[in-house]
Amino acid sequence: MTTSTERSAAPQIALTAPGGIDRAAHHRMDEAWLAAAWSHPTTRVFVVSGGQALVDDTPDGRTELVMTPAFEAPLTETHRYFLGTDEDGVRYFALQKDALPGRMDQSARPAGLREAGALLSDRDAGLMAHAVALENWQRLHRFCSRCGERTVIAAAGHIRRCQACGAEHYPRTDPAVIMLVTDDRDRALLGRQVHWPEGRFSTLAGFVEPGESIEQAVVREVAEEAGVTVGEVSYVASQPWPFPSSLMLGFMARATSPEIEVDGEEIHEARWFSRDELAKAFASGEVLPPMGISIAARLIELWYGEPLPAGAPR
Ligand SMILES: [Zn+2]
Repeated sequence: MTTSTERSAAPQIALTAPGGIDRAAHHRMDEAWLAAAWSHPTTRVFVVSGGQALVDDTPDGRTELVMTPAFEAPLTETHRYFLGTDEDGVRYFALQKDALPGRMDQSARPAGLREAGALLSDRDAGLMAHAVALENWQRLHRFCSRCGERTVIAAAGHIRRCQACGAEHYPRTDPAVIMLVTDDRDRALLGRQVHWPEGRFSTLAGFVEPGESIEQAVVREVAEEAGVTVGEVSYVASQPWPFPSSLMLGFMARATSPEIEVDGEEIHEARWFSRDELAKAFASGEVLPPMGISIAARLIELWYGEPLPAGAPR
């Protein structure tokens, strides 16, 4: 079992580990540089469509994004996103299309980020998260929020510009807090959302509201959803969660009153678990482990002190 001091070290959280990609944002407006990068023989391109990309298994048992040189990429009726460069100078682009290309071999298959995030390398998961987040934002922001006219893509996918009023719109990221609450007996508070199946318990979470600090959001959400009062709040780590555009900010929080009163609207049921109780509940199937790639699983693991049983992606 780890001590609380050891637990405060930044944990490895899927989708946030440095993936070796420099986003090289200063190149996004440089059309000549982008054109040269696109046609360079080492450049790698993958297609994103509806939040999915093609992934394939390698002979040594890894899973990777299916990427091709640019000259093999299907460029008709697509939007091109420049995602960055790696330490070897390879440039990465994503093409947003209405459909994924035909499968290149038997084992290549479409996968969403929830599935692929748990399988891919940090580099590939980071590239896919970047592309999916841009695709989600582009899809929902085709019209200018200032004047209502159509917007066009600029900056290699990172700006939408209104040609009527000149406004520039940038990708949105909506902050959300996710927190593991513990009490003075070092039990953890886990809740079940109203739409979740029986036995699915996880950390509480919610969106940050306008004019609110993230620490205030933690205290408010725990009080609203579970009726529990929280005192000390400490930041742990973050995770991009482009479903469609969230950034999950992970916290540990300490309860000052353990009485539970769920709101019944978002949270159907909440319970305090000791480590032994949670281990027994996992073993009996009474509680289902959270999905593997989520920051919720990592926060619970930090408290639990060892890896959780494998959870199914959902
Ligand atoms: Zn406008």
